[in-house]
Amino acid sequence: MVSREFIQGLPKAELHLHLEGTLEPDLKLELAQKNNVDIGQSTIEEVKASYQFNDLSSFLAVYYPAMNVLQDSEDFYKLAMAYLAKAKENSVRHVEMFFDPQAHTSRGVDFAEMFNGYYRAVTESEERFGISSQLIMCFLRDMSEESALEHYEMARPFFDKIVGIGLDSDERDNPPTKFQKVFEMAKKDGFKLTMHCDIDQKDSIKHIHDVLHVIGVDRIDHGTNIVEDQSLVEYVKEKGIGFTCCPVSNSFVTDDMKGKEMKELLDQGVKITVNSDDPAYFQSYIANDYYELAKKMDLSQEDIVKIAKNSFEISWISEEKRAAYLAEIDAYVEAHK
Ligand SMILES: [Zn+2]
Repeated sequence: MVSREFIQGLPKAELHLHLEGTLEPDLKLELAQKNNVDIGQSTIEEVKASYQFNDLSSFLAVYYPAMNVLQDSEDFYKLAMAYLAKAKENSVRHVEMFFDPQAHTSRGVDFAEMFNGYYRAVTESEERFGISSQLIMCFLRDMSEESALEHYEMARPFFDKIVGIGLDSDERDNPPTKFQKVFEMAKKDGFKLTMHCDIDQKDSIKHIHDVLHVIGVDRIDHGTNIVEDQSLVEYVKEKGIGFTCCPVSNSFVTDDMKGKEMKELLDQGVKITVNSDDPAYFQSYIANDYYELAKKMDLSQEDIVKIAKNSFEISWISEEKRAAYLAEIDAYVEAHK
């Protein structure tokens, strides 16, 4: 089996990463103190112990209240910079980071205050960490389309600083078509599109069908249930539509990391990638996600290299940058023969 060291040093892109999910207990405590926010915990151990969940709703019940500690631009900047430092240790060379504006405006934080903090980290990431970075704005699917449209308008002054639009949070009874209008607008405005299709949902196949054929996404987040429908698999293969999978996250919110499905799709030539999702909550940054999947599925070095290459192939970057990153992988593999 491929070694942890090989995985750790392998150049990779991270494409499924919620900035709000990178809030480590020490930063949460520090910001709580700074902003006088009562989080109900006063030691790192207590915060760690509060990160307890066994499905998506219990996870979201811990996840959203934690964000109260993020108040001003500096806090958002610090959060993103702390993640980028970890990403560097994991040999991430490019990252496309999700942020959820509604989770902040709904508790009184100004859109620009939040956005400017995150964006400042983006402008510094190349020089500080050797990582190119971009932002994807996500809508919370358990909120209304009206709210999504409102936030789309709030983001308008920053459109040139956002690469894509996504959809996340609780999928139950919140189908992709609920947001058809705002995603149509986003497509017309030139944004790349992605949507979460969570694992084993009530209407997984219908939702995957609709994100592909009604919304017309460029990527799918999670989405491994597609393996149940060969015609959909053929469609994504033909279109080169990739999947941002998160094995450790899956094992927290379902009964399995879904490695079998990922391997089967990979073998069929589907552009499967591996990502960390909410690394502070699942205590797993991207290299560990690769490693856990490799261990569970006994993946070869070729499989792991394929996954890393896929991550750049489905990144929303220029062809020149893509070629340069892929060449970096080839050089790394050559040096480790
Ligand atoms: Zn996610």
